Amino acid sequence: MGEFDLIDQYFRRAAAERRNDGVALGIGDDCALLAPRAGMQLAISSDMLVEGRHFLSTVSPEALGHKALAVNLSDLAACGAKPVAFTLALALPRVDEGWLAGFSKGLFALADAHGCALMGGDTTAGPLTICITVFGEVPAGQALLRSGAREGDDIYVSHGERESVGDARLALESFRGMVSLNEALFARVRTRMERPQPRVALGLALRGVATSAMDVSDGLLGDLQHILKASGVGAEIAIDSIAGHAHSIWADSRFGLEFCRNMVWAGGDDYELVFTAPPHRRQAVQAAARTTGLQCSLIGRITAQTELVLRDAQGQVLPNDFSSFDHFKT
Ligand code: ADP
Ligand code: MG
Repeated sequence: MGEFDLIDQYFRRAAAERRNDGVALGIGDDCALLAPRAGMQLAISSDMLVEGRHFLSTVSPEALGHKALAVNLSDLAACGAKPVAFTLALALPRVDEGWLAGFSKGLFALADAHGCALMGGDTTAGPLTICITVFGEVPAGQALLRSGAREGDDIYVSHGERESVGDARLALESFRGMVSLNEALFARVRTRMERPQPRVALGLALRGVATSAMDVSDGLLGDLQHILKASGVGAEIAIDSIAGHAHSIWADSRFGLEFCRNMVWAGGDDYELVFTAPPHRRQAVQAAARTTGLQCSLIGRITAQTELVLRDAQGQVLPNDFSSFDHFKT
């Protein structure tokens, strides 16, 4: 199968099947054409996934197709942008039609759920690498940025009812043989690791409410520090707010609070939103959570001093050694 047959069969879809009117011309010409609506800014983000570094070679192609797009849509969510279209650059070691069928199935299922059209890309032979660029739209001046956090703002993190930040890391530790989980918990956290749900609807609902936002990909505490730095502020964090939540939903007596703290605050691969909002917008934040079927847990408060203070449930200050917790980082 040649390059063009491959594109036609697995990635090109009829114009009628395009899921977004913002795409004036899709796959097939030298460029695709986007037609931004008046008053909108384009939000653009790229993410590259390399086999062995960003995903395990044992992951199913369908889950991989989902995740490759999900991590990109998560960046749009963090900016409060609505997905419009994406490009896909693929390096494939060989043409494996079973793999391509699974990959494109997972990819398009998520793309269609978000009305995001595949508008172009590139295909080449090489070590398995997936690079996606997403294009979203946001009313001019309304994008959620990392730089807007202000003294006194509340700090929140999103998650579903029976979910927590740290789920994906717990699954990874299980795959690595570092912990053994009961079947039901493993299934739940594995889904969180392999099929993260980008919080697009929450990002949209937080426009005009959140003062800053970003998505959690490298670990909650480290990522939060990007907001603090960009905003020129500090924070007081209640470590066991969300670590206590994780401890209770994982409900495994072998996991002490210390272990849960590490999974939650240094985990990574979560694709939840961490964001700030002033205390007088608490009701608006909870309304955004309700309408999107998510929870937004309060985890701390922004301070003027540019330092990060971590406290346990008794108010004791803890050393910040969470960012460095990673025995296995490659
Ligand atoms: P060019 O030679 O201009 O780089 P190509 O021959 O590589 O164009 O690609 C032909 C068309 O197919 C282009 O419209 C390109 O955007 C599209 N395309 C190539 N690879 C992919 C892919 N993996 N997914 C979606 N579209 C693709
Ligand atoms: Mg090309």
